[in-house]
Amino acid sequence: MEKSLFSTCSRCGGAMIFDKFYGHHEDFWGLKCLICGEIIDPVILENRELMRLGLGVSLPRGTMSEQKFHP
Ligand SMILES: [Zn+2]
Repeated sequence: MEKSLFSTCSRCGGAMIFDKFYGHHEDFWGLKCLICGEIIDPVILENRELMRLGLGVSLPRGTMSEQKFHP
């Protein structure tokens, strides 16, 4: 049912599988490309999502309704 369980690689467009990886501090689950070996962990996915929404990079002026800083 969950389409998010499977994804396509952003590098080669290959199929990605959900797999367990061993990080520096703790194990984590992420996506691994069967073709080129690209690994995407939840943190990367979250960052990409933020960047896609324009929250992970410097915000374009005039697009946010919430402006906390003033010139
Ligand atoms: Zn790939």
